[in-house]
Amino acid sequence: MNASCRTGFATRAIHHGYDPLDHQGALVPPLHLSATFAFPDTDDGMRRFTGESAGFVYTRIANPTLALLEARLASLESGAAAVVFGSGMGAIAASLWTLLAPGDEVLVDTTLYGCTFAFMHHGLARFGVTIRHADLTDAGSLEHLFGPRTRLVYFESPANPNMRLVDIEAVSRVARRRGALVAVDNTYCSPYLQRPLELGADIVLHSATKYLGGHGDLTAGAAVFRDAALAQQVRLQGLKDLTGAVLSPQDAFLVLRGLKTLALRMRQHCANAEAVAGLLATHPAVAVVHYPGLAAFPQQALARRQMKLPGGMIAFELHGGLQAGKRFLDALQLVTRAVSLGDAESLAQHPASMTHSTYTAEQRRAHGISEGLVRLSAGLEDTDDLLADVRQALDATIADRLAIGKAATPMA
Ligand SMILES: *Cc1c(COP(=O)(O)O)cnc(C)c1O
Repeated sequence: MNASCRTGFATRAIHHGYDPLDHQGALVPPLHLSATFAFPDTDDGMRRFTGESAGFVYTRIANPTLALLEARLASLESGAAAVVFGSGMGAIAASLWTLLAPGDEVLVDTTLYGCTFAFMHHGLARFGVTIRHADLTDAGSLEHLFGPRTRLVYFESPANPNMRLVDIEAVSRVARRRGALVAVDNTYCSPYLQRPLELGADIVLHSATKYLGGHGDLTAGAAVFRDAALAQQVRLQGLKDLTGAVLSPQDAFLVLRGLKTLALRMRQHCANAEAVAGLLATHPAVAVVHYPGLAAFPQQALARRQMKLPGGMIAFELHGGLQAGKRFLDALQLVTRAVSLGDAESLAQHPASMTHSTYTAEQRRAHGISEGLVRLSAGLEDTDDLLADVRQALDATIADRLAIGKAATPMA
């Protein structure tokens, strides 16, 4: 069956763009490792280069295994076309290098993933692109943020690591009026939870290393476009000339395998995260929890509107700040101390010293990333096991504080 059009999300994640009967009955799409592709004759080869003939040329530009993954991701994100890359940073860098020119301004939300922040400030800015941060969460003031040179608006929602949400529909409406493109990093949600293109955005970016691959055994990236011409421009400049951040066909094969269980996995990631967030919200060791599924989350109405479920990522702070956070991380036994997210294994890390150490301490303060913040990616383990581990690690931070308190008490 070729589940091309409006079948459900999970069905398309498994079937879209592939018919076994076109491939000798092979249920699983063949893996095409070839770097180059034979031309039947010189004329046809020439036509492939001009785009008049549809055949493949060279894997850095296109490859049948990559093309299937691109078709599937475009379908799942409701886009016209997708381009895949060797990493999320490859997708971000290739897309932005292609779409921006010296003199352009990028309007960026306050908080970004550390390497995206570094790419903008240490990469794009060096070549004459202005990076202007603004609070995109304030829908009322958006109109005033655009200048005559604003070419692109860029944000994450939820933002890595502090879970800020941006109203995708509201920003897209204003950007369209002002002639700017909207690019949304949808890594935290995956298209199962949120589809920015349906809300008016122009470009969706992914670290497919995370939920899309889902098993922590590859790095990959993707850019999905509302407009197929823009995708072609990014393929022919971003991939071919500017970055060469091509995805290995082997890794594309693994992402295709991961996508088959994306819907199932996301539901369990969300169920586990909701349970852990609930525990954090009631535990006396915890000062604040940032999770869109909690009633206390300040943007819960927006979360309900643009996300199907509250997601698998949590950020929180303990009483006792950084020291307590370190104690918590060191006390974990099941949850693994590691960066990355969206894996079967639950992972926890300290953004200020790890994923967001590309910011200076001053920049972190200005961009809403506090030094004591802990980030947790809820995996797919049994919920009770996860809760037991998080509870014992939280208890350990309290036991520590009591011990310190006792030691500081003068002897009677
Ligand atoms: C991990 C991540 C990236 C970078 O992706 P890589 O695959 O590691 O290059 C970009 N954005 C967000 C939100 C991420 O979490």
